Amino acid sequence: VTLGRRKVAVIGGGITGLTTAFYLQRYAQQNNLPVDVVLIESSLRVGGKIQTLRKDGFIIERGPESFLDYMNSVRDLAKDLGIEKEMVSNNDGQTYVAVGSQLYPIPSNLMFGGALEVSSFITSGLFSLSGKVRAAGDLLLPKTREEEDEPIGDFFRRRFGKEVVENLVEPLLAGTFAGDIDHLSIQSMFPQFYQLEKQYRSLILGLKKSGLSQSKDYIKSYQTFKNGLETLIESLESQLLPNSVLKGIKVESIDKLSDGSIQVYFNNIAPLKCDAVVMTTPFNATKRIFNSYGLLEEMPDMNYATIATVTLAFKQEEIKRHKDAMNFFVSRNSDLAITTCTWCNHKWNNVAPDGYDMLRVYIGRVGDETIVELSDSDIEKTVLQDLKKAIGISEAPLFTVVTRWNQSMPQYTVGHEKRMEEIRQQIQTEFPKVKLVGSSYEGISIPSCVAQGKKAASDVLEEMFE
Ligand code: FAD
Repeated sequence: VTLGRRKVAVIGGGITGLTTAFYLQRYAQQNNLPVDVVLIESSLRVGGKIQTLRKDGFIIERGPESFLDYMNSVRDLAKDLGIEKEMVSNNDGQTYVAVGSQLYPIPSNLMFGGALEVSSFITSGLFSLSGKVRAAGDLLLPKTREEEDEPIGDFFRRRFGKEVVENLVEPLLAGTFAGDIDHLSIQSMFPQFYQLEKQYRSLILGLKKSGLSQSKDYIKSYQTFKNGLETLIESLESQLLPNSVLKGIKVESIDKLSDGSIQVYFNNIAPLKCDAVVMTTPFNATKRIFNSYGLLEEMPDMNYATIATVTLAFKQEEIKRHKDAMNFFVSRNSDLAITTCTWCNHKWNNVAPDGYDMLRVYIGRVGDETIVELSDSDIEKTVLQDLKKAIGISEAPLFTVVTRWNQSMPQYTVGHEKRMEEIRQQIQTEFPKVKLVGSSYEGISIPSCVAQGKKAASDVLEEMFE
């Protein structure tokens, strides 16, 4: 160790950890700060949940598929990496919801975040007349007197009634977060809607008056990289300084030394003395790392949903119905086991060779996860049965790629914010030089993980050299 140099360990090599390490090195270089960064990843590859499989002209995402860059954090990172030109936006297409065994188009301005127009309700076949009348009740109903957080389901049922929740809100959420709307937190998952009710009472009026629904920043397209999301990971890894990434090494515990520094212990190498540590591991893993120190013991484990993604390729002529579709979500009032299906080659250019359709479906959601335990061939069979019912496919696929994500989708349940505050306070008191960031804390999405990592990097350096 060179005298006066500081060491920062970043634990976990997913998008959050890679972004943290990248900005630590970049800011240190730009400001001539004597800092060495080491990133520790337990598996043999970095990228965590981001995994792209490129084969025979197909670009297959095993984990996340794209992102909504609502605060431009990914674009800024891509600029800093010099890969901004690789970013691509999705094509337009129709979104459907499966209710029973039929697909109903969702009017584009009924989609979440879109302008919630009363006229779209009236023309949509998704809702019965009484469902529509009840939904319009949002215009008249008072706001809640409660200040407390509540489940997303209760919140939207209060405003729009049961039918809108069953046929629109629940399917979109189950297909996106694999979540149970009767447990997920409105405050953490949809702070903008929570605030709209507080400020404007009616969500429909609030969306109009606040200008939120018309704002160019609000309704944005999804984005990815031309050659798949892993482009971001590859670029980050290649731009980290040589020898700053350790793979195949698991952090087991951490402790404080009498001089205020932190000792990090591993499964297979000697401990490392650090001046600051950024932990980007999922909360339950982080909790285990603090086990021997006795911290966070009484905090409840976080819930994570187990899901699987299944990608299948077909000859184009084999998909008989809904050729205009970009995707469909699945209501619980349907007899399908899948929760969502995307036509990857409608949504993105160049992800499949000409003449092929590539579909990606999700299976599994909180409380309904046993399907993920089936063998690959049984999962394939179930998915094919569903696709036959929903869009009339009867042929065998060219290939099927099944990826299981065990305990992987964090569930921000009611009270999430408060619990996070409690965790932050405990860490701040005992380990002021340790930060916890990543998908378990302030946002699950890739843009949010990137933003958290970048902020952690600048906070660590600021505190270290203030
Ligand atoms: P991770 O990627 O989980 O990285 C954590 C890393 O820590 C892992 O590499 C792990 O091996 C390592 N680790 C764990 N324990 C230890 C230890 N003790 N020592 C050392 N290393 C350790 N987001 C979107 O924005 N858009 C989407 O379309 C989208 N779709 C998704 C689909 C699926 C199937 C899943 C699972 C997630 C999806 N997400 C999506 C969410 C997003 O992908 C994740 O929230 C994000 O990638 C998490 O990044 P992370 O770095 O915080 O965590």
